[in-house]
Amino acid sequence: MGLALLGYLPGYAIAVSLSLGFHPGQNYLALIPMLSDQLLLGILNLGLLSIPAERDRSRLEEAALRDPLTGAWNRTALVAQTPSLTRAGAVVVAIDIDHFKAINDRYGHATGDDVLLALTRRSFVLLEQQGGKLFRMGGDEFIAVLPQNTLSEARAFAIRLRQWPDETGQLPPWTISVGLSQIEPRDRDFKTALKRADQSLYDAKELGRDRIAA
Ligand code: GH3
Ligand code: MG
Repeated sequence: MGLALLGYLPGYAIAVSLSLGFHPGQNYLALIPMLSDQLLLGILNLGLLSIPAERDRSRLEEAALRDPLTGAWNRTALVAQTPSLTRAGAVVVAIDIDHFKAINDRYGHATGDDVLLALTRRSFVLLEQQGGKLFRMGGDEFIAVLPQNTLSEARAFAIRLRQWPDETGQLPPWTISVGLSQIEPRDRDFKTALKRADQSLYDAKELGRDRIAA
């Protein structure tokens, strides 16, 4: 559209030069407001031209921060967003599918992918309600960050995530283990809280999987 609007420029230039040619004694000062209007319009059009390029750039930037399979944020995004997510009281939730390798082996990789997608879809719905974000750390391991929630709200999130029924009716049975950790004022950085959540997740696995530990 910006390009189309710029189409008026050649015609306009011709009109101005013709009018100057026919009336050499004309008061040029009268042309200034008109010219400045057109100049502003030209600048506006250049701005319009740059909008699609800007949109493409931000789409590419966002794609670089997303996991292509699930649409969850990736590790790079976690590092980039850490400052805005990290505040004392926020809860870090480490989530991992139990015996995921066995699901792949028994039902095939495509079904494994469907399980990953089901987990992320559920998480997105629940996290949207709570203002949280989901990051895929790799394989079947995810981190959710709930910046505005208490530990008990985060636990409620994990319980609902575990109990969510399979809407498709097509998936094999699967469970998750969850580790919770709350960011404390004495935590040096986000990594410290992340390590605690990982340790809790490890505890949940050690205790027999299919459970939440904090
Ligand atoms: P645990 O209960 O201890 O978590 O065991 P696990 O089998 O879930 O964990 P393990 O780390 O042994 O296996 C993870 C598997 O995830 C191995 C790998 O092939 C599979 N995997 C990683 N990325 C993907 C993916 O994008 N799609 C599918 N389908 N499988 C994946
Ligand atoms: Mg696993």
